[in-house]
Amino acid sequence: MTITLITGANKGIGFETARQLLAVGHVVYLGARDVERGQQAAAALDARFVQLDVTDDASVHSALAAIDAAEGRLDVLVNNAGILGDGALDGPTALRAFDTNAVGLVRVTEAALPLLRKSANPTVVTVSSSAGSFWAVTNPDRPEYALPLALYSASKAAATMLTVQYAKAHPSIKFNAVEPGTTATDLTAAFGVGRTPEESARVVVRLATLDADGPTGTFQDENGEVPW
Ligand code: NDP
Repeated sequence: MTITLITGANKGIGFETARQLLAVGHVVYLGARDVERGQQAAAALDARFVQLDVTDDASVHSALAAIDAAEGRLDVLVNNAGILGDGALDGPTALRAFDTNAVGLVRVTEAALPLLRKSANPTVVTVSSSAGSFWAVTNPDRPEYALPLALYSASKAAATMLTVQYAKAHPSIKFNAVEPGTTATDLTAAFGVGRTPEESARVVVRLATLDADGPTGTFQDENGEVPW
């Protein structure tokens, strides 16, 4: 039995990743802030839901403690929770993408390390973004998104590099990052373009189901190519 936690999994790419991992027999915990949507998603998939806010230490520790109590270990962590962010730099929300996409990844990973060490084949997958490698979604017709997209891209570059560095620091755990291209989810609703969440989830699933001797410290696009 493979015990998996996916952050940000009550919709979008995380939800589809959950669906695909359940299909190959994982026990999947969906982590997100919105309890109602999370419980509906868990019921729809026959998954489990844990409330989890990756920007809040207490919430992260309490979610992982619940998994520890129920399962005694964690085999796969998918760091997927992410937001685009919006607003001007002096507003309340501009830097939230950093706290969610980059610092949130560190919060969850650090808290999960003790549970991952109890696994025979511990694996961490980061859902970064093609925006972490190049300016993927710039749109001259939407200048109000210029700063949020710049901050989002930088937070995703950080997410990719944090994952590569984690792989070096923890050789007994596999850490790999995926940089999917633009995907049609709520996050990109303002842009209205992209591949399907099912397509983007496939590469996440491939890295979440590696054998114990599989690669670590890689970052790849949705075709398995190194994007930089
Ligand atoms: P969605 O907006 O559909 O889903 C985002 C998920 O993250 C939701 O489940 C949301 O649930 C959760 N979330 C947001 N903030 C937090 C938080 N603080 N703590 C816990 N969960 C949180 O977006 P996508 O599915 O598109 O995005 C998923 C990941 O994929 C993100 O990291 C995104 O950057 C990345 N990505 C997206 C691409 C795209 O084009 N859509 C392309 C490449 C990468 P809740 O609000 O209930 O917490």
